[in-house]
Amino acid sequence: MDYQLVRSKRRTLALRVAADGQVEVRAPLRLGRRHIDDFVHEHRDWIRRQQAYWRARPRQHWREGDTVPHLGRPVRLRVTHAARPRVELEGDILTVAVPPPALEETVREAVEAWWRRQARDQFQHSIERQFHWFAARGHELPVLRIKKMRTRWGSLSQRGYINLNLALMRYDLEVIDYVVMHELCHLEYAHHGPQFHDLMDRRMPDWRRRKQRLDQVLPE
Ligand SMILES: [Zn+2]
Repeated sequence: MDYQLVRSKRRTLALRVAADGQVEVRAPLRLGRRHIDDFVHEHRDWIRRQQAYWRARPRQHWREGDTVPHLGRPVRLRVTHAARPRVELEGDILTVAVPPPALEETVREAVEAWWRRQARDQFQHSIERQFHWFAARGHELPVLRIKKMRTRWGSLSQRGYINLNLALMRYDLEVIDYVVMHELCHLEYAHHGPQFHDLMDRRMPDWRRRKQRLDQVLPE
């Protein structure tokens, strides 16, 4: 199995499979090649699973005519040129103006910056709409942080932050509300045990149906 070797002042071996399937091994400076080969060989099943995971991941393109989900509905990209990035939604056409050449990466950055501004309002409304019960229980309103996360849709930190994945902007409010409610319920219970699910059932009886609509594989 091919891999890229990165040596550094570290004490243990570590494996990483990148989105393109490339295997990277991080190793201590003087560890023998044989030992590293054995390590990779022992982890071959794990590596193949990671590679399969990346292949199954839906890939989003950001070119003229491509479709991007926005708040639960597909919108079509129209890419034009402008000195400064500008994004505008009209009907189901999302016009993205970026400096030439309009690289996919530039288009994506412009849309994500635009999403971030929209997400502030959408996510904050969702939190405030659903917070009354938790406020009555004496909880402080958590502070919203919008993040790009690779493995989670949301999380609640002990220090009073609710972290929500920017990629939730692909979904409609029904799904966004579900993720928000899930995190708010963590104000009461830090685990996913029966009490947590009881609370979810009471606060949002149809949460299972909403959850099913959320992709298990996060978009790139
Ligand atoms: Zn949770």
